[in-house]
Amino acid sequence: MAIETIVGPRVETPPLASSEWSVMDAVKLYGFDTWGRGFFGVNPEGHAVVQPTGDPRVQADLYQLLANLRERQVLTPLIFRFPQLLARRIEELHESFARAIKEFNYQGHYQGVFPIKVNQTRNVVQEIHRAGRRYNYGFEVGSKPELAAALAIHDNPNALLLCNGFKDQTYLEMACLGRRMGKRVIVVCEQVDELPRLLSMSDRLSDLPEVGFRCRLYARGAGRWEESSGEASKFGLSTSDILKGLDLLKERGALDLLKMLHFHIGSQITQVERITQAVQEAARLYCKVYQVADTLKFLNVGGGLAIDYDGSASSSDSSANYSLQEYCNDIVDTVRQVCDSEGIPDPVLVSESGRGVSAYHSLLAVDVRATGPEEVDLSSLQPSRETPRPVKELKWIVENLNPKNFRELYHRAVNMRDEVLSLFSLGYLSLRDRAWGEGLFRRIAELVDFHLAAEHARRRDTSHLRRYLSKKYTCNFSVFQSLPDFWSVGQLFPIAPLQRLNERPDMRALLMDITCDSDGKIDRFVDARADKRELELHSLVFDGANNGVPHGPYYLGIFLLGAYQDIMGDLHNLFGAVTEVTVWVDAATGRWHIPNIIEGDTCGEVLEYVRFKREDLRQQFSDQLRHLQQDGVIDAETAGRMQAQYEGLLNSQTYLAG
Ligand SMILES: *Cc1c(COP(=O)(O)O)cnc(C)c1O
Repeated sequence: MAIETIVGPRVETPPLASSEWSVMDAVKLYGFDTWGRGFFGVNPEGHAVVQPTGDPRVQADLYQLLANLRERQVLTPLIFRFPQLLARRIEELHESFARAIKEFNYQGHYQGVFPIKVNQTRNVVQEIHRAGRRYNYGFEVGSKPELAAALAIHDNPNALLLCNGFKDQTYLEMACLGRRMGKRVIVVCEQVDELPRLLSMSDRLSDLPEVGFRCRLYARGAGRWEESSGEASKFGLSTSDILKGLDLLKERGALDLLKMLHFHIGSQITQVERITQAVQEAARLYCKVYQVADTLKFLNVGGGLAIDYDGSASSSDSSANYSLQEYCNDIVDTVRQVCDSEGIPDPVLVSESGRGVSAYHSLLAVDVRATGPEEVDLSSLQPSRETPRPVKELKWIVENLNPKNFRELYHRAVNMRDEVLSLFSLGYLSLRDRAWGEGLFRRIAELVDFHLAAEHARRRDTSHLRRYLSKKYTCNFSVFQSLPDFWSVGQLFPIAPLQRLNERPDMRALLMDITCDSDGKIDRFVDARADKRELELHSLVFDGANNGVPHGPYYLGIFLLGAYQDIMGDLHNLFGAVTEVTVWVDAATGRWHIPNIIEGDTCGEVLEYVRFKREDLRQQFSDQLRHLQQDGVIDAETAGRMQAQYEGLLNSQTYLAG
């Protein structure tokens, strides 16, 4: 994607902070030009922007949005949702399949469904429903609550409603009910017992929903979820199960019900070759089953369409070695070839792309609350006769380190630092001596890092040095609530500052969240070429710092969070759902507006998730105040004030506010 289109034309005068650093450098450094796919970029003022329709003239400045929200007391952490971006992805998916179908002269069409488990948030589901209407885009569900949502929302008789997952009696009854309401319900059998149970629901075939078989393929996915596919996978019917199912349908005179073959070999399939293999096997199965049941109509290739989170366009776990168009071409061409060779009509193609549709549409904005460690002020170090030898030695090393001797002096410094720490443990060093020792060692490490960089000889075995030198930026969010896949499966997400992108970043940082869990940190970052362990950020000047420069908040954006993260997050430390802000950008005027703000969970709300009752908590709290009052510890007025404060706490958000 060309840089010109990333830097939106609507903003005036580009005030470059430094002649050696431009916003283009920031675009490259953080990868806006790769993973951003034209949806995210940087404007000449150095602010990150969203272009939700993919058109650079339809643009919103994320930093200005945050400033505006802050004036209205809507604070970070918050999720931005861009419904236009969801709509655009649905369009891209359908346009890409349409192009492939035309190019390969495929005789069927494409008809997708959104697997609702990827994001069941009401606003998201409603926007998908609205934007998908003109494509007869349907839903796929995998549980009773998901079915309950879909039964109410789904209102297009031409759109599919696919029922996957484990199914009890109620689930199957509700699928039949959907059928009687005129919905195009297909029950996809994943277990051998589902078909006989479904067929026993009614003697009249017309009351029953249509049927699909989920096949257990021999082909496997690739990437993080490879294990969820293949012969030993948890889901799907084996070849002999399929034969049994066909016999049963024949016996009941119900072969006409069989409409779909389905497979799903896992999410985020990083290699297109694996998709080809699976589609080829499934298309062959389709043809063989079609020879028994020629009412078969749909071939459903499941999910797996991957997102290039790290921008490397490779088969690394957080990427994909294919584009959306290549994905579509691959499926269409493979199915066509197999069906041609078997003389079977081309099926209607169905896909259940969840991640591919929803990942781009949301991002999390967080504010950095603190950075550390503080620099130790070495100017006050005046060695005296009492200063311990290793501290003196470290001071000498700082003063004498040079490009020739830094390797050998560094090893000496490590020994001296160890000596400082063990002398301290044995009681021979003061707190001040230890602080000096640590400060001096840090200074030495910085100098060594500098010399190494100058030599262009940053060898692998020095990465621990860089990690040691990196700053810790404490950010107002919870990894467990907002980025569960980073914590659980090591999924990387793009992260970048939302402002000051026209200034060269001068710090290498790790991000700490505000949970009391040592896993609550981000220490791996996306990069198109390298395994990146620190993120380049700007040093901060906080209010009340020595020079008193009043600085606004420093915001980071964590991007591409729209798939799975909204729903898989948990309440670790009782940090709850964050505030959500929906943003529209008007194509005609280029102005953004905010149709919807949903406040994040309050402390009272998260406590109810763990079965506390707010009423009981209030009561228990006030009982204690009453006893204190009876004992004469506080007066009535104080008790009233304390009760009001407690009430305020229950009604406040769970994240850091003031
Ligand atoms: C989870 C799931 C999907 C969605 O997969 P993505 O990789 O997010 O597209 C589709 N189909 C089934 C059956 C699933 O379980």
